[in-house]
Amino acid sequence: MSTPRIGLTTGLLPDENGTFSSNLDSYLDALHQAGADPIPLYTTLPDKQPEVLAKGLSAILFCGGGDISPIHYHQDQTPLCETVNPARDLLEIPLARYAIDKKIPFLGICRGLQVINVALGGNLYQDIHEEKPEAIEHNYYGIRSRHYRSHFVSIDPASKLAQIIGVTHIKVNSLHHQGINVLAQGLHATAHARDGLVEAVEFPDHPFGLAVQWHPEEMTDSAEWRALFSALVVAARLYVQKGRKP
Ligand code: MN
Repeated sequence: MSTPRIGLTTGLLPDENGTFSSNLDSYLDALHQAGADPIPLYTTLPDKQPEVLAKGLSAILFCGGGDISPIHYHQDQTPLCETVNPARDLLEIPLARYAIDKKIPFLGICRGLQVINVALGGNLYQDIHEEKPEAIEHNYYGIRSRHYRSHFVSIDPASKLAQIIGVTHIKVNSLHHQGINVLAQGLHATAHARDGLVEAVEFPDHPFGLAVQWHPEEMTDSAEWRALFSALVVAARLYVQKGRKP
């Protein structure tokens, strides 16, 4: 069986030795483990047109990272919205629209979920503490290890996510200070935290269009999250078998 090439977005630059930071390593390991050939989509690539980036890829992983510029959802930036990387926004947002339009399988993780929502016209809490003070703690970044499961999510039993992982209630890690405020039209919220925050979305009428607010790549010691990456690889293979046509 062929090894599907799965593109993954990153805010990092290739370093002189061609090695990567530990964060990117987790995504690479999860994809390798699931049987994929991961292809980092650096913002330094000369041509960032989505059709050029997606050429030869069988699926796309929209990875975690810093905050999306609120320009892309028509808000002024607040002081708590940080680490904006304009080049990454400009690579990922058109690529997300392209993946949806061309029915290329994709998985969004953390920032990746937010990119999908913004690409489709939704918006974000620029900071959950500030804009949704009743929310539970979602930001364990730098406080606990990246695999620390901090809160439960309730998953819609009818969702693709529930079908893949086989459970509808599970404790996940939480390394985000932003989240979905207004859900984009056409996107389905398929998991919520107990404070009501959207923790997963799916795009209907798409072979595999999923995104989660947590970090499954840091929890591949659990069968559920290995199953999620395996499902992405199965969808990638199917996409190739069908001649990369929707
Ligand atoms: Mn969370």
